[in-house]
Amino acid sequence: MKIHHLNCGSFCPLSHPLLNRAVPELDRFNLVCHCLLIESDQGLILVDTGLGLQDVRAHSRMAINFSFNRIAKPKLDLEETAFIQISKLGFNPLDVKHIIVTHFDADHIGGLADFPLAKVHVLKDEWLAAQTPKSAREKARYRQIRCDQNKDVKVYETRGDLWHGFKRVQNLEGIDPSIYLVSLPGHTRGHAGVYIEQENPLFFAGDAFMLQTQLKNGKSPLALELYNRLAHEDLQLAKETLLKLQDIDQQEPQISVFCSHDRGQFLNLAKGKR
Ligand SMILES: [Zn+2]
Repeated sequence: MKIHHLNCGSFCPLSHPLLNRAVPELDRFNLVCHCLLIESDQGLILVDTGLGLQDVRAHSRMAINFSFNRIAKPKLDLEETAFIQISKLGFNPLDVKHIIVTHFDADHIGGLADFPLAKVHVLKDEWLAAQTPKSAREKARYRQIRCDQNKDVKVYETRGDLWHGFKRVQNLEGIDPSIYLVSLPGHTRGHAGVYIEQENPLFFAGDAFMLQTQLKNGKSPLALELYNRLAHEDLQLAKETLLKLQDIDQQEPQISVFCSHDRGQFLNLAKGKR
């Protein structure tokens, strides 16, 4: 298996001066949409898609369009879409056979429609939340869910098999058994991480945290605390999830635990560093 780290969407949120001063390469777009492209024996696998061609060409179509664009301030650069990056790596985007989704927020699934032949893998709770949103927050975040072009969706229930306190699913249909979906609830009802068991194990934690400082010392800038109150479906569950991730980070230093939006983590992993 070969893993590519892709930034499929840069953001310059309104609060960016408060969020991430410590990253030396900081520029105006200081948050990323970290996605993985996995070359496997079963074909190309994407983990999240980031923003898609439609988002960039007509960003009014984004699922949380107006407020999302105003608050997150995406760069909206075609060159950052997974579709273009995969083409530039020499692959045919139609050869993306599987997309594993951490959750259905717009910045994680904007590119689903760019890969209409791919099977989408997601936890059942997230699928149900998107299909039948209950809370006002769910109704807002899943308002224009764009999974309609990917007819082939495989949903998974998590049962038993606790790993560091998390429920996880192995043997995703058609996917190498070293790749697991791990339930990381809190940010959304069925939010998941993806664990890849290999010599240098990777644990992609999606939006379970936003900055590496949260993982390392639990500290969040005030702006992020406020964002968490708005964005997390269940704040208490999200806190419990983060505590377990901190335990893994401390107890299993060989595992790279990283999230979707920390630019420093992305740059290090893209360069092959921890
Ligand atoms: Zn996100």
